[in-house]
Amino acid sequence: MNIILLGPPGAGKGTQAAVISARYKLAHISTGDIFRAAVASGSELGARAKACMERGELVPDAVTIAIVRERLTGTENYILDGFPRTTEQAEALDSFAKIDAAVNISVPAEYLIDRAIGRRICKKCGATYHIKYNAPQSEGICDKCGGELYQRADDNAETMSKRLSNYEKSTRPLIEYYRKRGKLIEIDGRKPIGEVSGEILAKLEEVRA
Ligand code: ADP
Ligand code: AMP
Repeated sequence: MNIILLGPPGAGKGTQAAVISARYKLAHISTGDIFRAAVASGSELGARAKACMERGELVPDAVTIAIVRERLTGTENYILDGFPRTTEQAEALDSFAKIDAAVNISVPAEYLIDRAIGRRICKKCGATYHIKYNAPQSEGICDKCGGELYQRADDNAETMSKRLSNYEKSTRPLIEYYRKRGKLIEIDGRKPIGEVSGEILAKLEEVRA
């Protein structure tokens, strides 16, 4: 099964991708994680991605598509988290992959700044927490591996508002793109994490059946 996750920044894509990938043994491929790793490695790609990410803009389509195309070569059974984000990316993906379902996690804008500002990520294993909605047992420390938690540089109110307006302009049209192709699964992402997971897994069982 090859799945994509759609939704605005902070909707819960990474959180739910972790649950879904564990359940169905899917490779979890996050373009945001790929770009953050490139930034951390100090590569040329990292320098280019960093400038876009800091401004709350998308990395250019040609760069992003080439990375995903290469990553998916020889891979089946994956969940794409954060790709595609533009119609050009979706069309490119259709040319080299077969997608079974597009899960759209819908969350209104008024929830999203709070979700992003409270987000904390483990430096070591990448697990995602939230200071209010999914707090670790000890502040600043990952429950799963003991790693240190950090706050993303782009999780601030100013960058988030740019990311949200870019989402509206470039990514929201993909909901219709996948609806027209009969692939869309719609999920109310306002509910608590466990309820959202339950709804997604139930709908994916219908796709598998
Ligand atoms: P995305 O990958 O879509 O940007 P994340 O999965 O990183 O979003 O979630 C953003 C933040 O919101 C994280 O801190 C996460 O713990 C929290 N979160 C995710 N889903 C929910 C939910 N259903 N209710 C409350 N908080 C959530
Ligand atoms: P995310 O971790 O999904 O919130 O992504 C963080 C940032 O990485 C985004 O704000 C973009 O700058 C960049 N990015 C991630 N995925 C894509 C994509 N599919 N296309 C373009 N830029 C992306």
